[in-house]
Amino acid sequence: MTQQLDQILCTQARIIDGRDFAETLRKSVALGARAFREKHGKAPGLAVVLVGQDPASQVYVKTKMKKALESGIDSFPHLLDSSTSQAELLQLIDKLNNDRYVHGILVQLPLPAHIDESKVITAIDPAKDVDGFHPINVGLLTQGKASLVPCTPLGCLMMLKDQLGNLSGKKAVVVGRSNIVGKPMANLLLQENCTVTIVHSRTQDLNNECRQADILVVAMGKAEFIKAEAIKPGAIVIDVGINRVEKDGRSMLVGDVDFAAVSSVAAAVTPVPGGVGPMTVACLMRNTLIAADAIESDKAHRYE
Ligand code: NDP
Repeated sequence: MTQQLDQILCTQARIIDGRDFAETLRKSVALGARAFREKHGKAPGLAVVLVGQDPASQVYVKTKMKKALESGIDSFPHLLDSSTSQAELLQLIDKLNNDRYVHGILVQLPLPAHIDESKVITAIDPAKDVDGFHPINVGLLTQGKASLVPCTPLGCLMMLKDQLGNLSGKKAVVVGRSNIVGKPMANLLLQENCTVTIVHSRTQDLNNECRQADILVVAMGKAEFIKAEAIKPGAIVIDVGINRVEKDGRSMLVGDVDFAAVSSVAAAVTPVPGGVGPMTVACLMRNTLIAADAIESDKAHRYE
């Protein structure tokens, strides 16, 4: 609460309220889920698989199941011991792929070191891949075709469209090139006809690249790394980063953007917490409803 008050007091830029936006999206998913239940006699179903006891992952999984319930989506938790073998996990994925009450499968990452993440992701039926990480969905997104899109970049795009309307012709810079945020974000912005630059740890003069951006999306995992000198006046800044830091003897969450400094130059900024995070979870619910509709109406891409 104090952190939020600090943010409001030092801000000149608009704060993009991800919590509010996520609530609106969640309500529209709940309406869709109710119509789905009336039509098909069952709710959209989301299987959530967690291997091990990583505290952060446990919190994420709990939040996702709570939001699923609020969205009218049935959630099926599979909380597995950290000693679960890869073969056992793949067996569970196979069972969920064939379960007619499960329309979305989410495997919480990271997985323990003895399990090959990419084997597990590839084993998920692409029609139930609500995280959008399966190579088939990644390929479809790259080709600009309809697919299940990773939740975090999808949430960022929705907020950007809400701020700017048409993104066509805007100069967009994405900081970070991970498979779950940076690369799909760049592809989504390209589909919206932005001119897109991706910067990463080997980029020379990062500040200069960022300063060209009408739209700056930052996903690097470095606390408050982006300062005012990296911002074009009037830019829209989306801060994906989530970093736990100690400040004034308190443990708190901050983004990859120095919120106070950047707010004095940008037109609008997402806060951390309360920006991209809530939208990611809401988009997971949206993807589950879309997957459920496609599967039950036999419109899902099948890749056998
Ligand atoms: P990764 O660690 O997978 O990727 C980080 C990216 O940032 C890499 O491409 C890396 O470059 C780049 N990078 C790191 N340091 C620098 C630097 N000094 N200059 C330029 N580029 C740099 O992280 P993720 O994409 O998975 O996540 C990024 C952040 O977003 C994290 O804080 C994470 O917690 C958060 N996150 C938040 C979500 C949400 O819902 N709000 C969801 C997912 C992630 P290179 O490739 O060259 O190494």
